[in-house]
Amino acid sequence: MNNQIQGIGMTSQRTRDRLVERLRNKGIQNERVLEVIRTTPRHVFIDEALAHRAYEDTALPIGQGQTISQPYIVARMTEVLLENGVPDTVLEVGTGSGYQAAILARLVPKVYTVERINALLLKARECHRALKLMNVFSKHSDGSWGWPEKAPYAAIMVTAAPEQIPQSLLEQLSIGGRMVIPVGTTSGVQMLKLITRTVAGFEEQTLDAVRFVPLLDGSVR
Ligand code: SAH
Repeated sequence: MNNQIQGIGMTSQRTRDRLVERLRNKGIQNERVLEVIRTTPRHVFIDEALAHRAYEDTALPIGQGQTISQPYIVARMTEVLLENGVPDTVLEVGTGSGYQAAILARLVPKVYTVERINALLLKARECHRALKLMNVFSKHSDGSWGWPEKAPYAAIMVTAAPEQIPQSLLEQLSIGGRMVIPVGTTSGVQMLKLITRTVAGFEEQTLDAVRFVPLLDGSVR
């Protein structure tokens, strides 16, 4: 694991620097986000057979028909959540590989993350432990319900696409809080939305066209 974390060959610092340059060229401006991406090993979250592609700006399969998001999307969603300052708690729905949660954990005080496929969650937890990220708290459940016991959240990030924004997630956002969420169908168009909760209600902004796996009901082993 030690070698794996430090990175060898294709997983060297130079390939990570190149990825960050690419993200910068694509418009990512938050230097703290870029620095955390540069110094967080993405290959740790990916199967060994695909680890040589870890620093390409592309989504990759992580098993169970799921994917680790493209680094650009990870950077973009993180940058949007942090735009108005650092939120003290973030809820992520769709832990997947655990990579996005790891990036968040290095930028905010507390990250709560929920995953419906237990096998993925167990692997993600192992990665968080290996990287000594003590501020990531995770749970096996259907994230459409959020994690009400820990609510409200200053920020919510959903990394799987529902056709409509789940009401429970809106309710668990604090006043002034921000949620980034892809909305749409898997076959059709999905749009990344930014929801801001105000005293008066919710404001909605449409950001980019995106492609995520669907947000599904229930939880599985
Ligand atoms: N953030 C992840 C990307 C994972 S892909 C990463 O950094 O790797 C989306 C994940 O959302 C998948 O693992 C999928 O199982 C999960 N998911 C889908 N519907 C869900 C739901 N209702 N609750 C929790 N997780 C869900």
